[in-house]
Amino acid sequence: MTDAPTEPFRALTGMRDVLPPEAGRRRALLARFAAAAERAGYAEVSVPVLEELGVFERLGEATDVVTKEMYHFADQDGTELALRPELTAGVVRAFVQHAPTQPWKVWVAGTAFRRERPQRGRYRMFDQVGVEVLGVDDPDLDVEVVALAWQALADLGLRDVTLLVNSLGDHEDRARYTEAVRAYFASLRSALSEAEQDTLDRNPLRLLDSKRPELGPMVAAAPSLAEYRSDEAAAHYERVLAGLRAVGVPYTEAPLLVRGLDYYRRTTFELTSGAIDAAQNALGGGGRYDRLAEDLGGRPTDGIGFALGVDRVLLACDAEGVFDGAGPALDAFVVDLTGGEAARDLTHELRAAGLSADRRFGGGSMRSQMKHADRSGASVALIVGEDELQAGEVTLRPLRGHGADDGEQRRVRREDLVAALRALPAHHDH
Ligand code: AMP
Repeated sequence: MTDAPTEPFRALTGMRDVLPPEAGRRRALLARFAAAAERAGYAEVSVPVLEELGVFERLGEATDVVTKEMYHFADQDGTELALRPELTAGVVRAFVQHAPTQPWKVWVAGTAFRRERPQRGRYRMFDQVGVEVLGVDDPDLDVEVVALAWQALADLGLRDVTLLVNSLGDHEDRARYTEAVRAYFASLRSALSEAEQDTLDRNPLRLLDSKRPELGPMVAAAPSLAEYRSDEAAAHYERVLAGLRAVGVPYTEAPLLVRGLDYYRRTTFELTSGAIDAAQNALGGGGRYDRLAEDLGGRPTDGIGFALGVDRVLLACDAEGVFDGAGPALDAFVVDLTGGEAARDLTHELRAAGLSADRRFGGGSMRSQMKHADRSGASVALIVGEDELQAGEVTLRPLRGHGADDGEQRRVRREDLVAALRALPAHHDH
């Protein structure tokens, strides 16, 4: 036995407990996302939180997510393991391992870990939801995927969202463009900060989405990506933009959007919120990748996907005052003044009938139990006193503010109770 700590334990820096009702709100968001993805033919996949380090190293040696922020350690047997910093690599690893029929359209939700400097909207443990499709290179699929991300946010009620779209061209285009950008910034090296010089050496494209204002004019005069796209990549991009217009998804072209991970090609996109802090305003993003399956030991396979950051999406919902996530209230709160058996049996009976019911343990006066009933958010209190018990009845008292019915208290026979509760306007099927 070790001694009890002198201070109570706390969650690790950047790792948050999600308490009620926020945890319920997350689940509601997830349920909506799942329903929308499944309407579009995506099936759920779930992959491990822990993988061999190599799975994530394939995301690119030039990305901070991999080089600086990944939690990794040697297992007892010496294998290098890592907590996933994002979900795509694990999903593609699973695709390669199980070789499912293509196209493979999946949605995924889960927790990712990055050892970042925590701040509002940026944590060391956060949730993502997203989709991945493997085995299709049709630009109309890009439209489907981008529209799904856009619609998921719109359906929550978010209005202040901007969709940024770009095409990085094919690998050769991207490589040529990277060299042009490298040469351009190399000629301006002395104007770059030390960190930027480091970025220039490791991943020059990332200078293009630098947030430092002084870099703005230099970025504006940098070589333009459009001139480096192959004809095929340009045609693909045009078809994607035409498709977005056709389905009514408003977009902004963002030639400087290069995104963090190395494996993207052709379509890349990001969704930003105007309602939250600019430094953490990316709600999600994604794009096409093809080399990832190959890098993970499979055949070259076209892939496209996106991830939305659940934590940030909910911050944006707070900022816009939408999707408070209040779940359906309880149908009933049992107030038992006869010793507790009635509360025990009634709650059981109601729940078995598919209604939601709660009660107070430990009894208490009418007044105190009614206070709990009010606070529970239930539509009605079901009061059982000696009188009701003898008569085989229950007093159904609508609680204020829940629109239960006309507000009149009434007595209901025990055997009619389920039907009476189902008939209440505030009743939801659970
Ligand atoms: P990324 O894979 O970096 O494009 O991340 C996709 C989305 O996940 C971002 O747009 C954010 O919404 C979210 N996200 C990324 N990193 C974090 C973090 N450290 N904390 C909270 N959300 C994050």
